[in-house]
Formats: sequence, C-alpha cells, structure tokens
Amino acid sequence: MPESSSSYSCHKTATLVPLDEVRSDTRPRAAVVVAHPDDETLWCGGYILTHPEFLWRVVTLCRATDVDRAPKFRHVLQRFGAEGEMADFNDEPDQAPLPAGQLNETIVRLLAGYSYDLILTHGPRGEYTHHRRHEECGRAVVELWRLGRIHTERLWLFAYEDGGRAYLPQVSGDADRRDVLTDDVWLEKRRLMMDVYGYGPDSWEARTTPREEGFQCLDSARIAIERTVLREQKS
Ligand SMILES: [Zn+2]
Repeated sequence: MPESSSSYSCHKTATLVPLDEVRSDTRPRAAVVVAHPDDETLWCGGYILTHPEFLWRVVTLCRATDVDRAPKFRHVLQRFGAEGEMADFNDEPDQAPLPAGQLNETIVRLLAGYSYDLILTHGPRGEYTHHRRHEECGRAVVELWRLGRIHTERLWLFAYEDGGRAYLPQVSGDADRRDVLTDDVWLEKRRLMMDVYGYGPDSWEARTTPREEGFQCLDSARIAIERTVLREQKS
C-alpha cells in the first residue's frame, strides 16, 4: 500500500519550495492541503490542471526531508504552475496519531495567512482503507475552518472510497461534484504519477489514478461540521 515507507524522523520544520514569481499575481487563490506529495496529483490533479484561473498553493504535511519525493513534488508544482510548501511530520508505517495542536499550527502556517476562494483537502474518512494521515489532515482543515483560523469561501473534500479494499478507490456515491477527466488531462495526470513520481504501471498508485474526480463541496464551516457528524453517525 502507498505511503508506508521507512525512516523519516519527526522534524517540525517546513521547507519552502522555491518557485516562480507568483506573489504579485491577482488571480483568486486556491489551496490544496494533503498529507503526502502525490496526493495532490492523485485526488485532484485533473482539477488543478483544468483550472489555471486560480493561483494554486499546494502544501503537504509529510516528506519535506524525503530526498526522493520532495524534489519530485517541486517538479510537479512547476507543471501545475503552483507555489507550495512541505512539512515533515512523521510518516512511519505504525502511524501514531499526530498531536492536534501541532498539526493545526502547521496547517495554519503552511497556508501562509492568505484568504482562499477554494481549499481542497482529504475527506475525513480518507480515500481508501486506510491512511491515518489523510483522515487527520481532512479533519484538521474542517476544524480550523470552523474555528476561523483559516479562511476560505469554499472547502471541497476528496470524495472517494474503496469498499474496504474491495476495489481501487473510486468516487463515492455521496459526492456533490464529479468530474470525468478528458483523455488528455487524465493522461497528463498519469504521466505525473508515473514519469515524475516514478510509480510503475503495476503499482497501486498508477492503477488507482482516478479518471473521475469527486468532491464533497462545502460552502460554510457549519455545513462541513454537520455533514461530517452525520456521515460518522451513519458509518
Ligand atoms: Zn497520501
């Protein structure tokens, strides 16, 4: 399964991803908050590629010091024309829960004080069975929005499920929005996964790379909380 590799220690520093001049750009801002470099491409790469009207900022909670994945992430951001930053939370396979305060402070810092038109992040139950960092990430962003610690007009949560590993992740039945990618866009997303991140054709990641992207679309933090609670009661 993905994201389960080896020996990254728990540093708290984040590494600025040096990118092109984007600070003076007047486009509305959109952000992607994900656990790992590659989640942005896997779950919403098609949306990013087809929405250049936004000034994108893509941030990750893990792998800032991963000498393999961090440079690949920077390469992908250049393709997206996005700015970004990485933190370096522990991503060991045993996945002890992250301290909530530290997680929240890190997300606030990664979002750099901007107001966003749209933020995309993991669903509170993740996209497959099962990755704690994905779930923690989505839940923390909803909570920070509710607390007014981060600012966005809209929050979209990735909406995928894998039937408890019965099949590869696909858009969940309760998604508010579904985008079937054109061949061109899907192939570009696959190219980023395979040629840049280096996943082989038989890897879980390459086989998963969704042709259809799905989102829960939330217009207010109140609705986000209500729907999250409702969904957890059902499950
Ligand atoms: Zn991940």
